[in-house]
Amino acid sequence: FAVCRCPKCVELKLPREGAAFCSQDCFKESWGSHKSVHLKAKLSSPAPENAGEQNSGLSNDPWLYCLRKGQSRTSKLPNFDWTGSLRPYPISKKRLVPAHIEQPDWAIDGTPKIEPSSDFQHVVEIKTPDQIEKMRETCRIGREVLDAAARVVRPGITTDEIDAVVHDATIAAGGYPSPLNYHFFPKSCCTSVNEVICHGIPDARKLEDGDIVNIDVTVCYKGVHGDLNETFFVGNVDEASKRLVQCTYECLEKAIAIVKPGVRFREIGEIINRHASMSGLSVVRSYCGHGIGELFHCAPNIPHYARNKAVGVMKAGQTFTIEPMINAGVWRDRMWPDGWTAVTADGKRSAQFEHTLLVTDTGVEVLTARLPSSPNVFPWLKS
Ligand SMILES: [Zn+2]
Ligand SMILES: [Zn+2]
Repeated sequence: FAVCRCPKCVELKLPREGAAFCSQDCFKESWGSHKSVHLKAKLSSPAPENAGEQNSGLSNDPWLYCLRKGQSRTSKLPNFDWTGSLRPYPISKKRLVPAHIEQPDWAIDGTPKIEPSSDFQHVVEIKTPDQIEKMRETCRIGREVLDAAARVVRPGITTDEIDAVVHDATIAAGGYPSPLNYHFFPKSCCTSVNEVICHGIPDARKLEDGDIVNIDVTVCYKGVHGDLNETFFVGNVDEASKRLVQCTYECLEKAIAIVKPGVRFREIGEIINRHASMSGLSVVRSYCGHGIGELFHCAPNIPHYARNKAVGVMKAGQTFTIEPMINAGVWRDRMWPDGWTAVTADGKRSAQFEHTLLVTDTGVEVLTARLPSSPNVFPWLKS
């Protein structure tokens, strides 16, 4: 398969956002607004006047551009070698953020500006006490937002309705839902069902009895981000899925337990791989933990797999996430044509848990830790 891309975007080596269309018709219809993407690239070659001339290299597929226009994803299901039984459903209109909420620099036009060119993509920032206090506040809000989402998980609810809970709870707390419009992501959280590894887009699909669903929440508040996720059971889930989810939870716990000053970042992957492979499960390699703070994603990069090449050692004052994605089958991932939804290559299930962590002088503080009020949804935590 090939995602249908705007050939001009390919030529200009522009990122995937805005470069994918669900069909030639979609491309033609979208051309009037799409061509500004090329102009924005500040390159001298003029945008063609007629989209028709550009269509010769295009095949069937979608759809990121359709998502940006808020169109249904099901009106034209793309030709794609779906790896499992899950399919995309329509996506609702972009949710509004009231004017009094402080917005990150991608909120309006979809493009982060400070983040990609920051020194903290290479250097791991040591947070000041003031930054750390803000991270504590933001991460606590993130936890309460995820807990609110967890309470509504049940068969029959759509992931779009879960997204509304996340969006409203974030705004009620005075925060901005960081995923919203980040590189044009269309929703306020990620919801990853069954074979979806991560970055699933909340849509009109109703959760079914026996599903598993990961909800990944990031809140921006007082200028800093807090990022966490958990995988929940929908109704009655089979034993293999229960083992997968519990093992993934344990992988994160075991990784957190080694965090302290002086430990190499690459050790995290060794711990996670050891525990996952003991249960016959595999570790996703394409998506990693990350530094976090005033930037949503920055150094360090934290692979979750064994024999990784992550450089550096942990130091007090660093904040980063650990977020292992563990698969029931093969580790390999595939991307849906929407440019976001990462699925297992064999269609078997995947689970994930994530915390935002602070390295302290003596060990680690889990900034997104569960609260006494957090819903009791994990059987292995019940006393
Ligand atoms: Zn996350
Ligand atoms: Zn993250």
